[in-house]
Amino acid sequence: MTIAAFSYHDPTSLPEALQLLEKLDDAKPLAGGQSLVPYLFFRMQRHRHLIDLNNIPELSYCSTEQGFLRIGAMARQRTLLESKLIGEVCPILQDALHLIGHQATRTLGTIGGSLCNMDPSAELFGVAALHNATLRVRSSRGEREIGVSDWAETFMKPSMAADEMLCEIRWKLWPKGHGHAFQEFSKRHHDYAIVASGALMTHDGNGKIKQVSLMVIGLGIKPTRLTEAEEMLTGKAPTAELFAKAAKSVRQYELFPEEFANQGYPRRFVSAQFRRHLGEVYARRVMEAAWQRAIGQEAGGPK
Ligand SMILES: Cc1cc2nc3c(=O)[nH]c(=O)nc-3n(C[C@H](O)[C@H](O)[C@H](O)COP(=O)(O)OP(=O)(O)OC[C@H]3O[C@@H](n4cnc5c(N)ncnc54)[C@H](O)[C@@H]3O)c2cc1C
Repeated sequence: MTIAAFSYHDPTSLPEALQLLEKLDDAKPLAGGQSLVPYLFFRMQRHRHLIDLNNIPELSYCSTEQGFLRIGAMARQRTLLESKLIGEVCPILQDALHLIGHQATRTLGTIGGSLCNMDPSAELFGVAALHNATLRVRSSRGEREIGVSDWAETFMKPSMAADEMLCEIRWKLWPKGHGHAFQEFSKRHHDYAIVASGALMTHDGNGKIKQVSLMVIGLGIKPTRLTEAEEMLTGKAPTAELFAKAAKSVRQYELFPEEFANQGYPRRFVSAQFRRHLGEVYARRVMEAAWQRAIGQEAGGPK
């Protein structure tokens, strides 16, 4: 199959791109093309206009500011994976990036493209959820911020209007030396995850958990924050039993609603029951691994 005809637009500034998005009917931004181009080839999508974001340098950056990490939507996944800054201030982002696709897809694929594509198994959406990220979107009409918990409108559709573009992802950094872990179950290494889980943790210096953030992806159309488990762990001295009990809370979350059965969920690749079981197992594993890192007992000490 070949791509249906479209007009290609190559803006060199953000205002120019926003004007095109506003003016043109059925226009779609093109970031790394690692999801959009296959959809076009398979005719799962067709658009009259593609607006290439690759020549807009102001969308590619990564910096820290007053305790926050700020990443431009067009920052490449590979750039973030190899960034010394990210390795120092937000290592879980690199834990997750290691699991995404292949070197070739990460070389072109962007953080913004992944968040806008919004695959239910996208690791980067999970990392954003762990940090309660804020997404900054712009259109010719102005700018607004969307909390990550409100990002999903429905299955693989972010809550943005057709003339809006994601410009920046921002989140508060965790203290230096915090524990972190991100692990996933997939059919083959580098495939999309069936289920993945991530954890961030700090300790209080007296053997107790001070702060914790936990999430699982693969249970629903967006990452599931394990708030009950977080409450159960905060202020407690962790034991294997406590982690196992906290991980059990995964069982209470609803899987994909039946309306997504035509997309294959929740029985895609595995039974719904096994999907939930994986969520519990991986949640427990990342809690344990993040704690070991938080207390510096992981081989090589805390990262
Ligand atoms: C072989 C292979 C394996 C992969 N494995 C994984 C995996 O394991 N995990 C994973 O998460 N992903 C995986 N991916 C997808 C990959 O991460 C893509 O990079 C990502 O989904 C899309 O990013 P992109 O920059 O290529 O965006 P594109 O494909 O260019 O765009 C994706 C969608 O987002 C929209 N969009 C892009 N940027 C913006 C913006 N700034 N504002 C508004 N809309 C925007 C586009 O219009 C389009 O609808 C894989 C892809 C391939 C080909």
